[in-house]
Order: sequence, then structure tokens, then C-alpha cells
Amino acid sequence: MLNGKVAVITGAGRGIGRAIAVRLAKDGYSVVINYRSSKGKVEELLAEIEGFGGRALAVAADISREDEAKKLIDEAIKEFGRIDVLVNNAGITRDNLMLRMSEEDFDSVIDTNLKGAFLCMKFASAVMLKQKEGKIINISSVVGVTGNIGQVNYAASKAGVIGMTKAAAKELASRGITVNAVAPGFIESDMTAALSDKVKETILAHIPLKRYGRADEVASVVRFLASDEADYITGQVLIVDGGMAI
Ligand code: NAP
Repeated sequence: MLNGKVAVITGAGRGIGRAIAVRLAKDGYSVVINYRSSKGKVEELLAEIEGFGGRALAVAADISREDEAKKLIDEAIKEFGRIDVLVNNAGITRDNLMLRMSEEDFDSVIDTNLKGAFLCMKFASAVMLKQKEGKIINISSVVGVTGNIGQVNYAASKAGVIGMTKAAAKELASRGITVNAVAPGFIESDMTAALSDKVKETILAHIPLKRYGRADEVASVVRFLASDEADYITGQVLIVDGGMAI
């Protein structure tokens, strides 16, 4: 059963973004599924959502580019006429020790994780300001709070997302728009599958709950922040990490 609300999720073809899209679609949101390269996976996802009676639109766009981020928001409005929720989930890693990190790897991570989220917030908040309501949820990372070896680019981008979330929350609060961040720890996905077994074991040893997280466990927190239940929460960072950052 549709709830009349529209959610745009960036990087939703796979991983955490996909889990968020499915969760929100099951809750009745019409979902706009943004992707960059996962076309085949997005077609499967559209079929899955339509299969349980949900409504979805797929939009190919590289959100690190201003014209494409604008296109994503424009397409969402053209199809559904409003945007109630924006989830900035698209993200990449280009890990290396700082001394070996190229300028290109630094820039590409900042461009996608930080600038991409800024661009989508900028265009979506223009719509939300007219509606006088809206919820923005930015996916940061626990690494943006604690730092991590080999990830100065990624940690900077995710700490930047937290600062940007707080600034935007202050800017938009008077117009009924909330902006929050979710900071996952180690969640099983393609991103973390790329890590070596040794690195994974070391991380596991630092997780008090003694297991990795699942994408649907991030999706349930996003679902809460997107809901009316979270109307009085803004500018916050919710850490979903099995206790890693304690
Ligand atoms: P993932 O499996 O590697 O998926 C990344 C997603 O981002 C893909 O859907 C990809 O789209 C999309 N994407 C990348 N660059 C894009 C761009 N320029 N424009 C549009 N989409 C783009 O990663 P994940 O683990 O699900 O991570 C999702 C988010 O959670 C990221 O922001 C990540 O930093 C954050 N996070 C993850 C973990 C974790 O442990 N997994 C922990 C903390 C935070 P295509 O496939 O279409 O290219």
C-alpha cells in the first residue's frame, strides 16, 4: 500500500542503498533509485519492488557531477511531483596510506562522498523548502568519527558529511526540514568484501557485538529517521556499528 510519500536514494542498485530502497518501498514510499553503473542489478530491483506492489523509478546519474545530480532531482519531480526523503548513500573508497595516495584518489572520494551529497541536498532541499517539509539522511561512516589507517580521503569525506549535516540542519530547520546522518561501522557489502581476511579479522576483534552488521540494519535506522517518529530529531549522527566506536 503506497503512503503517498517519495524517497530518493542515491547509489541504490546494490549494498546498503539497495536495502534502504527495499525497506522504504515496503513501507509504501514511491522510491527513486539512483545508480551509476549497476544497470542490470537495478532492473532486478525494480522487478522485486513491483513484485510486492511498490512503486519505483530508476535514474542513472553520476551524483558527483552537478548537471547529473540536478537531473536526478528533476526526474524525481517529473515522475512523482514531490520529494519527502533524500538519502545520500552513494559512496566509494580508494584506500591507500597517505604517502602513497594520489591526488586523483583523494579528489574522487571527496567528489563522490562529500560533493555528491552536497549537490543532491542542494537540489532536493529547494523542492523541500517549497513543500515546507522534508527529511534528509546522509550516510556517513564511523571512520568519519574515529579516523582509520589508509583512509585519509574517505575519513575526510565522511567527517565532512557530518559537518555538512549539522550546518544544513541549522539552515533548514525553520522550514520544517530535518537533516541527520547515519554512521555505519562494518557492514557486509561489496565495499567491505574487498578487504583482506586479515583486515576483516582485526576489525571483528574490535566490534563488541562480535559480528559484522547487515545492510538491513542500516536501512531500519534510515527508515526511523525518515518517519514522523523522528520529527524532533535534527543535526544528529546515529552510529550503527555494533559498539565499535565506544
Ligand atoms: P557498495 O556496495 O560499494 O555500493 C556503493 C554504491 O554507491 C553503489 O550503488 C554505486 O553505484 C554507488 N555510487 C558510487 N559512486 C556513485 C556516483 N558517482 N553516482 C551514483 N552512485 C554512485 O557500498 P555500500 O557498502 O553499500 O556503502 C553505501 C554507503 O555506506 C557509502 O556511502 C559508504 O561509504 C557507506 N558506508 C558503508 C560501510 C560498510 O561497511 N559497507 C560502512 C560505513 C559507511 P553503481 O553500482 O551503480 O556504480
